[in-house]
Amino acid sequence: MPSEIIDGKAVAAEIKQQVAVEAETLRQAHHPPSLVAVQVGDDPASELYTNMQRRNCAAVGINYQLLNLFGDISQHGLLQQIDTLNRSDTVDGIVLQLPLPAHIDTRAAQMEIDPAKDVEGVHPENMGRLFYGGWVTADCTPMAAVELLRRVREDMSGLEAVVIGHSAIVGKPLAMLLLQSIDRSPTVTICHVATRDLTAHTRQADIVVAATGVRQMRWLRYKHDRAAGKSPERPDLSPLITSDMIKPGATVIDVAINRIPVGFDDTGEPLRDDEGKVWLQTVGDVDFDACRAVAGAITPVPGGVGPVTVAMLLRNTIACAEGWG
Ligand code: NAD
Repeated sequence: MPSEIIDGKAVAAEIKQQVAVEAETLRQAHHPPSLVAVQVGDDPASELYTNMQRRNCAAVGINYQLLNLFGDISQHGLLQQIDTLNRSDTVDGIVLQLPLPAHIDTRAAQMEIDPAKDVEGVHPENMGRLFYGGWVTADCTPMAAVELLRRVREDMSGLEAVVIGHSAIVGKPLAMLLLQSIDRSPTVTICHVATRDLTAHTRQADIVVAATGVRQMRWLRYKHDRAAGKSPERPDLSPLITSDMIKPGATVIDVAINRIPVGFDDTGEPLRDDEGKVWLQTVGDVDFDACRAVAGAITPVPGGVGPVTVAMLLRNTIACAEGWG
């Protein structure tokens, strides 16, 4: 029997409704919650993201401002701008859009954000709180993954969970979030690129959370090599997680977002659309159709973790506006 599809759009809509009610309460009590996104220089991908933030904030009653700084701003200048936002009584949350230009120390800039306004949970203090418990904001993507998981697995005690990916913004915080409950956490294993036998881990897992983006990495490396005049072999863009790696009935959460070609022609060239551009598709780490036949519940890509990540940003903004210091 095909598994349940965990509908990220529906979950996001529900969270946004709650956020709208909380935003209205805050507006009546003192001021509407407000979020400022800091963007340094121009980046088309960031623009897509900030437009999405603006739309979503408007929909739930959060004031949104984009602070667009010149790409050649100095490190000191950026820290000063963040400090001004930290001191403002009318700014509740700060998002620092990445990537920052190469001359900026990203970690130092993130550390400058007041932890009480750190809606993306990137400040070391907030990351540390995840270890202690009593956390308020964490990175929005792992929060979204766990939110979706809870919709189908509220009590995870006794279960085996495998997180694939160990980055500081997704894999590691995700594992910490899974371990928050004193008596209802699963047993968590973190796998990564140096894991010897990934299948041996996933096959015994009741919960698989895939967060590698390996297909995108391979595609980008291939493009990079071609642009450098090399003749790389056609990349293996097949899913990392196939149905034989999934235990029947397991819950599968696919965090990855890969923009890769739909296929290659006989000469090894990526297929192109009517306008001559490489024809891209958005997929995750998981072979969705095949795994759906085995898993108990599964998230799609797109339409799974992505929409809920945005909803988590809104929820974190409310948490910061409510004050927690
Ligand atoms: P990253 O590149 O920092 O980390 C990749 C991780 O995958 C590393 O831990 C690496 O060891 C592991 N990995 C790579 N190849 C592997 C393999 N063959 N087997 C097992 N593990 C392997 O990436 P990230 O920033 O953590 O993002 C991970 C994915 O999540 C990406 O696809 C990214 O687009 C996606 N993402 C989604 C959202 C969202 O809103 N849904 C937000 C952020 C990131």
